[in-house]
Amino acid sequence: MAALAQARQPELEEIIKSTGFFRNKAKSLIGMAQAVVAEHGGEVPNTMEQLRALPGVGRKTANVVLGNAYGRNEGITVDTHVTRVSKRLSLTRHDDPVKIEQDLMRLIPHEDWTLVSHLLIFHGRQVCVARRPRCWECVLADFCPSAVF
Ligand code: SF4
Repeated sequence: MAALAQARQPELEEIIKSTGFFRNKAKSLIGMAQAVVAEHGGEVPNTMEQLRALPGVGRKTANVVLGNAYGRNEGITVDTHVTRVSKRLSLTRHDDPVKIEQDLMRLIPHEDWTLVSHLLIFHGRQVCVARRPRCWECVLADFCPSAVF
Protein backbone atom coordinates (compact mmCIF):
# COMPACT_ATOMS: atom_id res chain seq x y z
CA MET A 1 0.00 0.00 0.00
CA ALA A 2 2.90 2.34 0.82
CA ALA A 3 4.45 1.70 -2.61
CA LEU A 4 1.13 2.31 -4.35
CA ALA A 5 0.68 5.56 -2.41
CA GLN A 6 4.01 6.77 -3.84
CA ALA A 7 3.53 5.46 -7.37
CA ARG A 8 3.92 7.73 -10.34
CA GLN A 9 0.61 7.97 -12.18
CA PRO A 10 1.97 7.38 -15.74
CA GLU A 11 3.76 4.24 -14.55
CA LEU A 12 0.59 2.88 -12.92
CA GLU A 13 -1.46 3.77 -16.01
CA GLU A 14 0.88 1.63 -18.10
CA ILE A 15 0.34 -1.36 -15.80
CA ILE A 16 -3.48 -1.18 -15.71
CA LYS A 17 -4.26 0.24 -19.14
CA SER A 18 -5.95 -2.94 -20.43
CA THR A 19 -8.78 -2.38 -17.89
CA GLY A 20 -10.29 0.69 -19.58
CA PHE A 21 -10.75 4.11 -17.97
CA PHE A 22 -7.20 3.56 -16.80
CA ARG A 23 -6.35 7.24 -16.23
CA ASN A 24 -9.17 7.75 -13.74
CA LYS A 25 -8.52 4.36 -12.17
CA ALA A 26 -4.81 5.10 -11.71
CA LYS A 27 -5.63 8.43 -10.09
CA SER A 28 -8.17 6.78 -7.77
CA LEU A 29 -5.82 3.92 -6.87
CA ILE A 30 -3.05 6.29 -5.83
CA GLY A 31 -5.48 8.50 -3.91
CA MET A 32 -7.02 5.43 -2.25
CA ALA A 33 -3.60 4.12 -1.22
CA GLN A 34 -2.57 7.51 0.16
CA ALA A 35 -5.76 7.66 2.25
CA VAL A 36 -5.32 4.07 3.50
CA VAL A 37 -1.75 4.85 4.56
CA ALA A 38 -2.61 8.23 6.13
CA GLU A 39 -5.87 7.29 7.83
CA HIS A 40 -5.77 3.51 8.38
CA GLY A 41 -2.12 2.68 9.00
CA GLY A 42 -1.78 1.00 5.60
CA GLU A 43 -4.55 -1.56 6.27
CA VAL A 44 -7.61 -1.62 4.02
CA PRO A 45 -10.56 -0.77 6.31
CA ASN A 46 -13.35 -3.29 6.85
CA THR A 47 -16.51 -1.23 7.13
CA MET A 48 -18.79 0.09 4.42
CA GLU A 49 -18.56 3.64 5.74
CA GLN A 50 -14.74 3.72 5.87
CA LEU A 51 -14.36 2.06 2.47
CA ARG A 52 -16.80 4.45 0.80
CA ALA A 53 -14.85 7.40 2.13
CA LEU A 54 -11.81 6.31 0.05
CA PRO A 55 -11.23 7.88 -3.40
CA GLY A 56 -12.83 5.90 -6.22
CA VAL A 57 -14.67 3.50 -3.90
CA GLY A 58 -18.44 3.25 -4.18
CA ARG A 59 -20.87 0.74 -2.77
CA LYS A 60 -20.11 -1.80 -5.53
CA THR A 61 -16.37 -1.88 -4.82
CA ALA A 62 -16.94 -1.83 -1.07
CA ASN A 63 -19.22 -4.88 -1.36
CA VAL A 64 -16.54 -6.74 -3.34
CA VAL A 65 -13.86 -5.97 -0.74
CA LEU A 66 -16.06 -6.73 2.28
CA GLY A 67 -17.41 -9.96 0.82
CA ASN A 68 -14.20 -11.39 -0.60
CA ALA A 69 -11.41 -9.99 1.55
CA TYR A 70 -13.25 -9.91 4.88
CA GLY A 71 -15.98 -12.55 4.43
CA ARG A 72 -18.70 -10.06 5.33
CA ASN A 73 -22.04 -10.22 3.50
CA GLU A 74 -22.86 -6.51 3.72
CA GLY A 75 -24.56 -6.29 0.36
CA ILE A 76 -24.75 -7.61 -3.19
CA THR A 77 -22.39 -6.31 -5.86
CA VAL A 78 -24.42 -4.76 -8.68
CA ASP A 79 -22.44 -4.26 -11.87
CA THR A 80 -23.57 -4.24 -15.49
CA HIS A 81 -23.91 -8.05 -15.57
CA VAL A 82 -25.91 -8.28 -12.35
CA THR A 83 -28.17 -5.47 -13.59
CA ARG A 84 -28.88 -7.19 -16.91
CA VAL A 85 -29.37 -10.71 -15.56
CA SER A 86 -31.55 -9.56 -12.64
CA LYS A 87 -33.83 -7.65 -14.98
CA ARG A 88 -34.12 -10.51 -17.46
CA LEU A 89 -34.99 -12.88 -14.62
CA SER A 90 -37.53 -10.34 -13.31
CA LEU A 91 -35.77 -10.17 -9.96
CA THR A 92 -36.03 -6.39 -10.24
CA ARG A 93 -37.66 -3.75 -12.41
CA HIS A 94 -35.21 -1.02 -11.47
CA ASP A 95 -32.22 0.46 -13.32
CA ASP A 96 -30.68 2.13 -10.30
CA PRO A 97 -27.98 -0.14 -8.76
CA VAL A 98 -28.97 0.79 -5.20
CA LYS A 99 -32.61 -0.20 -5.81
CA ILE A 100 -31.57 -3.37 -7.65
CA GLU A 101 -29.37 -4.31 -4.69
CA GLN A 102 -32.26 -3.74 -2.28
CA ASP A 103 -34.56 -5.96 -4.38
CA LEU A 104 -31.95 -8.73 -4.52
CA MET A 105 -31.20 -8.51 -0.80
CA ARG A 106 -34.90 -9.03 -0.08
CA LEU A 107 -34.98 -12.16 -2.27
CA ILE A 108 -31.66 -13.85 -1.48
CA PRO A 109 -30.62 -15.27 1.90
CA HIS A 110 -28.10 -13.07 3.69
CA GLU A 111 -25.42 -15.77 3.86
CA ASP A 112 -25.43 -16.08 0.05
CA TRP A 113 -24.98 -12.41 -0.90
CA THR A 114 -21.30 -12.59 -1.83
CA LEU A 115 -21.66 -15.93 -3.59
CA VAL A 116 -24.69 -14.79 -5.57
CA SER A 117 -22.82 -11.71 -6.73
CA HIS A 118 -20.18 -13.98 -8.28
CA LEU A 119 -22.77 -16.34 -9.76
CA LEU A 120 -24.78 -13.56 -11.41
CA ILE A 121 -21.65 -11.90 -12.80
CA PHE A 122 -20.32 -15.21 -14.13
CA HIS A 123 -23.71 -16.10 -15.62
CA GLY A 124 -23.86 -12.70 -17.30
CA ARG A 125 -20.40 -13.12 -18.78
CA GLN A 126 -20.76 -16.70 -19.94
CA VAL A 127 -24.44 -17.32 -20.76
CA CYS A 128 -26.80 -14.37 -20.30
CA VAL A 129 -24.60 -12.13 -22.40
CA ALA A 130 -25.72 -8.66 -23.45
CA ARG A 131 -26.26 -8.99 -27.17
CA ARG A 132 -27.65 -12.48 -27.70
CA PRO A 133 -28.28 -14.43 -24.49
CA ARG A 134 -27.53 -18.14 -24.84
CA CYS A 135 -30.97 -19.21 -23.59
CA TRP A 136 -30.75 -22.59 -25.32
CA GLU A 137 -28.00 -23.66 -22.92
CA CYS A 138 -29.12 -21.71 -19.84
CA VAL A 139 -29.90 -23.70 -16.67
CA LEU A 140 -32.40 -21.00 -15.67
CA ALA A 141 -34.38 -21.05 -18.91
CA ASP A 142 -37.34 -22.95 -17.41
CA PHE A 143 -37.82 -20.19 -14.82
CA CYS A 144 -36.86 -17.15 -16.88
CA PRO A 145 -39.60 -14.89 -18.30
CA SER A 146 -37.13 -13.52 -20.88
CA ALA A 147 -36.03 -16.87 -22.32
CA VAL A 148 -36.05 -16.94 -26.12
CA PHE A 149 -35.28 -19.95 -28.29
S1 SF4 B 1 -33.01 -17.88 -20.14
FE1 SF4 B 1 -31.88 -16.45 -21.43
S2 SF4 B 1 -32.49 -14.39 -20.75
FE2 SF4 B 1 -33.04 -15.86 -19.13
S3 SF4 B 1 -31.29 -15.90 -17.73
FE3 SF4 B 1 -31.00 -17.56 -19.20
S4 SF4 B 1 -29.75 -16.66 -20.83
FE4 SF4 B 1 -30.60 -14.97 -19.64
